[in-house]
Amino acid sequence: MKTDTIAAIATALSDSGIGIIRISGPEAVTVADRIFRTGSGKHRLKEYATHTIHYGFVADGDEILDEVMVSLMLAPRSYTKEDTVEINCHGGVLLLQKVLGLVLRNGVRMAEPGEFTKRAFLNGRIDLSRAEAVMDLIHSQNEFALKASIRQLKGSLAEAIRQIRSEILYEIAFIESALDDPEHISTDGYPEKLSDVVENLLGRLNRLLESAEDGRLLKEGIRTVIVGKPNAGKSSLLNLLVGEERAIVTDVEGTTRDALEESIRLGGISLNIVDTAGIRNATDAVEKIGVERARKYARDAELILYVVDSSRPLDESDKEIMDLVREKKVIVLMNKTDLKPFVSEEELLDSLDGTAGEVPVIRTSAKENTGLEEFTEKIREMFFHGKIGADDEVMITSLRHKEAVQEAYDSLCMVKKSLEDGMPEDFYSIDLMNAYACLGRILGEEVGEDLVNEIFSKFCMGK
Ligand code: GDP
Repeated sequence: MKTDTIAAIATALSDSGIGIIRISGPEAVTVADRIFRTGSGKHRLKEYATHTIHYGFVADGDEILDEVMVSLMLAPRSYTKEDTVEINCHGGVLLLQKVLGLVLRNGVRMAEPGEFTKRAFLNGRIDLSRAEAVMDLIHSQNEFALKASIRQLKGSLAEAIRQIRSEILYEIAFIESALDDPEHISTDGYPEKLSDVVENLLGRLNRLLESAEDGRLLKEGIRTVIVGKPNAGKSSLLNLLVGEERAIVTDVEGTTRDALEESIRLGGISLNIVDTAGIRNATDAVEKIGVERARKYARDAELILYVVDSSRPLDESDKEIMDLVREKKVIVLMNKTDLKPFVSEEELLDSLDGTAGEVPVIRTSAKENTGLEEFTEKIREMFFHGKIGADDEVMITSLRHKEAVQEAYDSLCMVKKSLEDGMPEDFYSIDLMNAYACLGRILGEEVGEDLVNEIFSKFCMGK
């Protein structure tokens, strides 16, 4: 591990009240003393106690660059476990860049993205799952993702994994000792006991695996497509949803230019709505047809919202759309319920070959703003079995963790099979060992340098 002193701007690069420059490493205080003058001009940072904050100026020779507050956190009681100085400047982009430049000219290296957190990990302050939670926390786009990453940061996943690992290790140790010392340690009845243990562990790992799908959807959002005939009310409904929850409009890389993705937050869940035909902004009715385009996007969608104009009879286009959505997770929004009805729920379900409850039909009116709560509730039910983000639930939100748990699960299945086939003890311990190692990867105990570098390179600058 590199132990030189590093620095970076730790806050967002846009004009704001405060911007922070973080310096970490053995030279942090010395370097800060070269460019910082306390208000009275009499003291130096190195004279002060740890965890104190000081008013003064950053100066490049005689030129004062900014009026600042400097926090001093000495090793090991800092984020990185190294001496750390944080200069709280005013938040102008140019100003921050100038102060950072000054720091760098005084013998500090520019930090790589995520390097501060990488040091926290390598210095043993946090395990890898908690380091990753820091990044998830920063990138959280909705309440549940935020909650899940806080829980992971507090170490709940690490705790669950550690517990399982220690139970596996106990069995490995027992088998090894019994093989070493057969005269004193008997393995009579041991296979039955191990079977119970393995069964229990498989159950717990399986629950973690199940949580991974929920975790992914919570973190990334549900890929959603809105379909329906022109004038059914797609754009009105979308505007309503977006308007209520302030959308983040993003150009998603890798999608064609005619599809914009809008992320809508709905009761803590993100729906990434692929706005297939520029539904929201199209003025040309033909552009709103959706059928052709929907065909293209519906295939990859995790949720299809099918908007039906209930004030007009169903026709050929509706039939076409129904053919498209039949095999998917779909919610039918029966819109314009404020008008005289022309389509009944029964008729709709008949055409969809569904029965009540199987295909959710929700009565909405974009005009009167009704039905949206029920809609949110339905999504919860469909994707998260009604209960999401229970506070104490340990959840997997990262693909890397999921793969490790899956591999550990498979290894334990091998143990189970060896037990059923009456294989000798040393067969169990190989697979137990493998399960132990796989789970260790989550905590960062069995990971190579390349993986560590890759994980931390995804971080933001200054974190
Ligand atoms: P799209 O082509 O599916 O995007 O449909 P629009 O959202 O553009 O709506 C078509 C027309 O229906 C517009 O004039 C809307 O004002 C109207 N509309 C949409 N939703 C409702 C509704 O719930 N009730 C009533 N009465 N009119 C609606």
